[in-house]
Amino acid sequence: MTDRLFPIPDILGIPVQGETARYPVGRIFCVGRNYAAHAAEMGHEVDREAPFYFTKSASNAVLTGATVPYPPGTENFHHEMELAVAIGRPVFKATSAQAWDAVYAYGCALDMTRRDLQIRERNKQRPWDLGKDLENGTVFAPLTRAAEWAPDDSKRIHLSVNSEFRQDASLQELIWKIDEIICHLSGYYHLRPGDLILTGTPAGVGPVVAGDTIEGGIDGLAPLRLTLTEAE
Ligand code: MN
Repeated sequence: MTDRLFPIPDILGIPVQGETARYPVGRIFCVGRNYAAHAAEMGHEVDREAPFYFTKSASNAVLTGATVPYPPGTENFHHEMELAVAIGRPVFKATSAQAWDAVYAYGCALDMTRRDLQIRERNKQRPWDLGKDLENGTVFAPLTRAAEWAPDDSKRIHLSVNSEFRQDASLQELIWKIDEIICHLSGYYHLRPGDLILTGTPAGVGPVVAGDTIEGGIDGLAPLRLTLTEAE
């Protein structure tokens, strides 16, 4: 490999249950408004129009257990608890069967959001990047291989702040299911190993402040935790 002009950070690797090697984080795709009750709380009609996406930088992601400062530029920093899907083989214009086959693993994730900036930019019809793609703004728990876990409707997804429940739903509430998302997204991208899809958050998003501890879980998957300290 050719020399680099300056050192680049190592790629984040997510632990995988039962594996010694980690899953290297490539692209992070996020689905918007994929639970009806969350769409409603954000002031949107629930519909079955095609899903939409935004992306978050891999270099801004951290692992569960992290302690990070309250981010700059916001006075309304929100938690979003999500099911993450890790792609394990190349897939393009997938059928449903190919979509399921492309899933390597699942995990808990946080899509942390500067809500005031997201809404301000949204209202001006500008991109969401300031609101969504912030440093330390995506959190991953260890992954569980798809052979060992399935996103059944009965699985509960929940999040608490300082041990008080804020989000509590089931995967049954997903508007677009895992295979449908992969079928649709793979019509626009050659999905490949390293790609992660955050599948949207249920209702109950809300603000966190310095000193808070966020804990999230999905039945049968490794839980996650994030602690916020004072702003820098
Ligand atoms: Mn989200």
